[in-house]
Amino acid sequence: MNPSDIEFDRRHIWHPYTSMTNPLPTYPVVSATGVELVLSDGRKLIDGMSSWWAAIHGYNHPALNDAAKSQIDKMSHVMFGGITHPPAVELCKQLVAITPDSLDCVFLADSGSVAVEVALKMALQYWQAKGKKRQRFLTLRHGYHGDTFGAMSVCDPDNSMHNLYKGYLPNHLFADAPQCQFDDEWQPEDIASFKQLLLQYHNEIAAVVLEPIVQGAGGMRIYHPEYLRQVRQLCDEYQILLITDEIATGFGRTGKLFACEHSQIEPDILCLGKALTGGYMTLSATLTTRHVAETISQGEAGCFMHGPTFMGNPLACAVASANLKLLSDSPWQQRIQSIETQLKAELLPLKSHNTVEGVRVLGAIGVVEMKQPIDVVSLQRHFVQHGVWIRPFGRLIYLMPPYIIQPEQLLRLTRAMTSSIN
Ligand code: PMP
Repeated sequence: MNPSDIEFDRRHIWHPYTSMTNPLPTYPVVSATGVELVLSDGRKLIDGMSSWWAAIHGYNHPALNDAAKSQIDKMSHVMFGGITHPPAVELCKQLVAITPDSLDCVFLADSGSVAVEVALKMALQYWQAKGKKRQRFLTLRHGYHGDTFGAMSVCDPDNSMHNLYKGYLPNHLFADAPQCQFDDEWQPEDIASFKQLLLQYHNEIAAVVLEPIVQGAGGMRIYHPEYLRQVRQLCDEYQILLITDEIATGFGRTGKLFACEHSQIEPDILCLGKALTGGYMTLSATLTTRHVAETISQGEAGCFMHGPTFMGNPLACAVASANLKLLSDSPWQQRIQSIETQLKAELLPLKSHNTVEGVRVLGAIGVVEMKQPIDVVSLQRHFVQHGVWIRPFGRLIYLMPPYIIQPEQLLRLTRAMTSSIN
């Protein structure tokens, strides 16, 4: 890309969470293959981010390219109202088969945030159909569920979005974030705040919504499976719906196909996105039990009130189908296991560094939390100079590489992290 295009970008194009008057630098990527991003000056960077959890099989994958090409020659898109098509049916068959047994009905939507909106609306319509006024959600501090209004309303209340939109966002309930980490000994008082809120407000609560096991953008926190197990029990006890947002954790990232398997629980509503298309394009799915779907359908409206223009987009469904086949045909468990072993060996020693607050590894996720906020611009420059793509935020430097990464490539990533901390 020539300098005038970079200048055009700076002047005219918003980037995520970035100022328009003083934007952070952007790096021009012109192609990507396998686990490498290629910059316009020819430099290659090893990708440690999977484009925010999505590109699990790496970039430019022949099987996903073929799926997209062969579908595009049939049709890219057709409306889903009154029409169905093979790519949607094929994808939903696979989703029903691989997700927990009780999840039976699939709503396809545009993005992760919309999947969460759909889940929240489903819970509201569920209670409406039962003739009860339940309009509050119970969730966890440090949670993140997306940037649309419903999703924002259940994100961590202290990370400024709530302050910015005060008065506009509904007033939901926030339990203390779990403190017990994944491998810690379980401490029963960890669930006390959640339990207390449930006890006090259960008659008003439509659903509990949370990210199972790994809280992503709200702090990359990895919590104890017993917490989630008890959340499920409490939801059953008080007959409250449980929505699990597996938009980040789904499709193997934590070492299980879905993170709720760490706790052997099943949600009533499940949100999926990100890696659903292997990072090729945007698509999400919200799955529910038949009971939830039937209850909604027996309500006043007689249907669920949502239907985006690009619902069930055939091109995205065809790629998602190929992506799920690729995943199930691959030795993903062994791959994640060896990534986890290597991340533990190469990142855990950083714990002893006096600027490091903590190090956490689960599956193909490695997180180093610093004591002080990170200078993103200079650290990003350091990483690019070392031939790797790692995008830190807040006090966190973290890796979630494509599953196909080779040990020597992962070593380049962890070495770059270690050198940046040193
Ligand atoms: N939920 C979780 C757990 C996420 O990590 C994200 C994206 N970071 C979302 C929802 C929102 O997804 P999207 O950005 O596709 O709208």
